[in-house]
Amino acid sequence: MSQPGIPASGGASTGLQAQNGAASASGSPYTNGPVQNALMSSQVSVSQGYNSQLPGSYPHLIPAKTLNPVSGQSNSGGSQTVSPLSNYQRPGQAPYGPPVASHPVTPSLRSGPSPQMPLPTSQNPAATPMPSGSFLPGASVPSPSNWQYNYLSQTNHCPRASSQPTMTGNTNLMSPQYVSSGDSSLQNNFIKSGIISNTNNGSMVVHNNYDEIEGGGFLATSQPTNKNPTMSRSVGYSYPSLPPGYQNTPPPSTTGTGIPLSSLNYPSGPQAFTQTPLGANHLTASMSGLSLHPEGLRVINLLQERNMLPSTPLQPPVPNLHEDIQKLNCNPELFRCTLTSIPQTQALLNKAKLPLGLLLHPFKDLVQLPVVTSSTIVRCRSCRTYINPFVSFLDQRRWKCNLCYRVNDVPEEFMYNPLTRVYGEPHRRPEVQNATIEFMAPSEYMLRPPQPPVYLFVFDVSHNAIETGYLNSVCQSLLDNLDLLPGNTRTKIGFITFDSTIHFYSLQEGLSQPQMLIVSDIEDVFIPMPENLLVNLNESKELVQDLLKTLPQMFTKTLETQSALGPALQAAFKLMSPTGGRMSVFQTQLPTLGVGALKPREEPSQRSSAKEIHLTPSTDFYKKLALDCSGQQVAVDLFLLSGQYSDLASLGCISRYSAGSVYYYPSYHHQHSPVQVQKLQKELQRYLTRKIGFEAVMRIRCTKGLSIHTFHGNFFVRSTDLLSLPNVNPDAGYAVQMSVEESLTDTQLVSFQSALLYTSSKGERRIRVHTLCLPVVSTLNEVFLGADVQAISGLLANMAVDRSVTASLSDARDALVNAVIDSLSAYRSSALSNQQSGLMVPFSLRLFPLFVLALLKQKSFQTGTNARLDERIFAMCQVKNQPLVYLMLTTHPSLYRVDNLSDEGAISINDRTIPQPPILQLSVEKLSRDGAFLMDAGSVLMLWVGRNCGQNFLSQVLGVENYALIPQTMTDLPELDTPESARTIAFISWLREQRPFYPILYVIRDESPMKANFLQNMVEDRTESALSYYEFLLHIQQQVNK
Ligand SMILES: [Zn+2]
Repeated sequence: MSQPGIPASGGASTGLQAQNGAASASGSPYTNGPVQNALMSSQVSVSQGYNSQLPGSYPHLIPAKTLNPVSGQSNSGGSQTVSPLSNYQRPGQAPYGPPVASHPVTPSLRSGPSPQMPLPTSQNPAATPMPSGSFLPGASVPSPSNWQYNYLSQTNHCPRASSQPTMTGNTNLMSPQYVSSGDSSLQNNFIKSGIISNTNNGSMVVHNNYDEIEGGGFLATSQPTNKNPTMSRSVGYSYPSLPPGYQNTPPPSTTGTGIPLSSLNYPSGPQAFTQTPLGANHLTASMSGLSLHPEGLRVINLLQERNMLPSTPLQPPVPNLHEDIQKLNCNPELFRCTLTSIPQTQALLNKAKLPLGLLLHPFKDLVQLPVVTSSTIVRCRSCRTYINPFVSFLDQRRWKCNLCYRVNDVPEEFMYNPLTRVYGEPHRRPEVQNATIEFMAPSEYMLRPPQPPVYLFVFDVSHNAIETGYLNSVCQSLLDNLDLLPGNTRTKIGFITFDSTIHFYSLQEGLSQPQMLIVSDIEDVFIPMPENLLVNLNESKELVQDLLKTLPQMFTKTLETQSALGPALQAAFKLMSPTGGRMSVFQTQLPTLGVGALKPREEPSQRSSAKEIHLTPSTDFYKKLALDCSGQQVAVDLFLLSGQYSDLASLGCISRYSAGSVYYYPSYHHQHSPVQVQKLQKELQRYLTRKIGFEAVMRIRCTKGLSIHTFHGNFFVRSTDLLSLPNVNPDAGYAVQMSVEESLTDTQLVSFQSALLYTSSKGERRIRVHTLCLPVVSTLNEVFLGADVQAISGLLANMAVDRSVTASLSDARDALVNAVIDSLSAYRSSALSNQQSGLMVPFSLRLFPLFVLALLKQKSFQTGTNARLDERIFAMCQVKNQPLVYLMLTTHPSLYRVDNLSDEGAISINDRTIPQPPILQLSVEKLSRDGAFLMDAGSVLMLWVGRNCGQNFLSQVLGVENYALIPQTMTDLPELDTPESARTIAFISWLREQRPFYPILYVIRDESPMKANFLQNMVEDRTESALSYYEFLLHIQQQVNK
C-alpha cells in the first residue's frame, strides 16, 4: 500500500543529516560541475518548415538575406548527466513504527456560536479517515547519517597572493577620502572623491579569471620598495617581510580572537598605545553574560505545548557574544548561520546532526551603507580577508587577521581616521567599525574597463505569445521605465524577437524609424549589422520608443506557431558577448525549432506520485549556453508566461548558471487573468528599475579550520570557490554548506566574510563586504541552544532540492523528516540529562518539526497534489534563489485575523498607523465563519471572508452590502473613507512594501476556487495526502524514543 504521508517510500531511505563535511562526488546540475558530455546526440532541427518569407504585415522590411554567417554555435542536445548520491543508505533500518490510530488525529474543530469553516470533503479528516496501519507503511527508518554532498571539499582560506597589491597613479592621498551613500552623518564628514580614475587602457577582451582579482593576486608583481612614509602613503603600503602570523605566534587561545573594539582604548597620538588583550578570562566572562533569554534554556515537550508559534514574526537568535562584539556584528538579514554557536570539532557537529551553513542576501537594498573611497583597501596579506571589526590590533601598527591569524602591518594611510580627522586611530576607521561596508575599488580590481550597462530584450512573438497579449504589457512597462533603467550615458539597449525565425532591429542613430532584419537560417545563426543592434540608449531613445510602440502591433496577424528559442538565445549571446550585460528573455511555450528544441514530457497522471520524474533537464543545451554566457559576463533572466507545460526544468538552466532570475506566470492572459497582468506589471517595474551589478564575483571566506563546500543559488562556480555572477541583483539569496575541517579548540570566535566585487550601473567597480562573527562552543547543549531554526530549515530546503534532482522526491522528503528525527534523537540522548517521555526539544528548535512539515507540504516537495510540473520546478527555483525571509514565508505563511483590526500595538511609520494583529497557527481551528482572515504566503496574499462575517467588515472594508455581493474575483480592496478600511489597507500595503516582488491579493469567498489554495497552506491540518502537525509529532516522537 502506498500511503500518503510523510516519507513514503520503500527501501532506499535517506538521511538529510549529519556528515556536514563529507564532501564528495561530482557535479549535479546544482553544483555547477562541469558540463557533462551529451548523452544523446543532437536532436536539433526537427522541423524545417519555417518560412523564410516575410509576413506582409511587418512594417519595415529588409529581406532576410543570408550574408556571411558569422559562425555557427554547435550545441548538441542531450541529457544532463546527474550523479546520483551514492552514500545515503543505511542497512538494517527498522521499519517505521506502529500505527498511531490510537491517537485521535481529527483536528478538534472549535465548537460554539460561530460556525466553523468546513473542510472540503477531500480534506475533511472526518471524511477521509486515516488509512489503517502504520502511517508510514513499508518505509524503513532512514539512516540518521549521510546527507551527502556531491561537491569537492575546498577550503577557502588558502593564501592567494604572496605579494602586495601596488597602487599606482594617485598621489593625492594625504587625506584618504570617503564617500557614503547612505549614512548622512558619514556623508557630511566624507569627501566625495574621484580617486579611482586609473583604469587599464586595455582592450575589451573579456577575461574570465576574476579569481585573481578578488583574490588579490592580480597586481602581485612588484615588491614595495618605498621607505619613505610620506611617500608610501601615496603609492600604497609597505609590508615588512613578516611570516604569516599564525606561524610564529602562539596558538590563538589568547589572542586569536576578536577583540571587542570598544575595549581598545587608543589614544589619539601615535605613541601611547595601550592594548587590552582579550584573554580567556575575559571571554569566559563574556560568555556568561548570556544574551539568551532564560526562556531560551527551556526544554519543551512539544506533545504538551503544541502551540509554540510566536504571535509576532520570529526573530533570529542573537549569537552568544559579548555585547561589544555583537553590536558590531552583521545584520542577520544579510548574513546568518544555521548555528549561531559553532561546534569546535566536526565530531561535535556530527553529534548534533544539524546542518552547518550560511544564508546570505549579499546585495540587499540597504538604507544605510557606508561606502569607502580610499586608495588603500586593507586586506590580510596572506588570505586576502578585508579588514573588519573582528580583527585584533596587536598594537597601533599591526593587526591580526581573524581568519588566518596572520599578523599584518597597518598601512600608513590607514592610521588616519577621516571620520574624526585624527591620526593614529586605525581601530576607529569605518572599515573596522562596520560589519557591512562597500569599497570603491581601484583599478587593480578590474580586468578591463568597467563595462557599460547593456540590456537586451528577447521576445517570443509566435502566435501563442501574441495570443497572451503579454507584449503590450511589457512594451508599455519598458516605455514607462525607460528613463529609470539603471545606467549612465553609456547605457546600451537592443531587441530581438523570434518565432520560427529571428528578427533583429537596427536602431542606429539617424534612422527615421527602426529597421527590422530577419534571419531565417536558424541552423547557423549570424548577426546582421551587429554594430547597430545594441545602441546607446540616450542617442537612440526616440527610435527605441518608436519600436516599443509599434512592436505589439507588428505581429498581431501572425500564424507562426513555432518557437526557435535556442537559436534566438544563441544570437542574443553573440550580440552581447563583446560587452556582457543583462538578457531578458520572454517565452510563452515549449521551444520547438532548432537547437534547444524540447518535447513535452509531463504526464499529468503522475503528478501525484512521489516518484516525480523530469526534475532534471532533458538537454544540456541551456546549461552549456548559460556557461558560455557566464564566461562573457552575460546573465539571462527568463520570464516564462505559459499555460502549457514548457519544461522549466530544462529552460531554467539558462538562468541558473548565468546568475539570472526566473519569473513564472502560469496561464498568463491579458483578458482571462487580469491578476497576472497586474502582477507582471508590478514585477517588471521592480525588475527594470532595481539596482544591478555587472561582471560580479563573490567569494566567502571563513576562519581557518572551517571549510565551505557546497553552494546554493544561481551562479557558476568558476574556480574552486569563486562564484561567477555576470549580474547580481538585490533580490537574490544564496546558501552555502560548511564543515569543520580542523579542530577549533584553540579558538573562541570564528568569522565569515563575503566579498562581492561588481561593476555598478554607473560604471564604478565596487566591493561589498559583510563579516559575521560567531562564538565557538564545546558542548552539544550549547550547539543546540544557538540553533537558528529558520536558517536550518532554509538550508535543508536547498539541500532537499538537490536531493530531489539527484535522487528522487521521496528521497528528499525522507531526508527532511530524518533531519528532524536525527537532531532531536541526538538532543535526547546527549543533551538531556533525565529521560522524560514526550517529545522533548530545546527551545531553539521548538518550531523545527513544524517548519519541516511545512516544507513537506510546500509546492516543491509535496505529493498527492495536482501541482503541475513546471510549478513544482519553479517552486524549487525559488527555494534556491530567494532570500531566507521569503522562503520561510512561502513555506510557512503568516495568518492574521483582520476583521477586528485595532490600533492596539500598532506601529507608526511616516504618520501612518499600521496595525499589528497577532500571527495565528495555520489550522482551521483558528478560523471562524464570522471573521475575515489574511494569509501572507510571500508572493500571494489571500483574504478569506467567512460566510457570517460581520456586516461592519463587509461594508466598511470590502464596500459591499452583504456577503453575496462580494465579487467572485476580487483582487483589490476599495479605498473607503472609514477607519476600518484605512487600517486594513495600511496593513496590507505595509506587508507588500517589505518585499521586492508584488504579492497579489485574492479576496476569497467560500465558493471560490482559490479556497483550496488557502486551505492547502493550513500546514497544521491533515490533508488527503499529508499528516497533521500532531500526527507528525507523534511520528517523530516514536522514532526519537526508540
Ligand atoms: Zn588572513
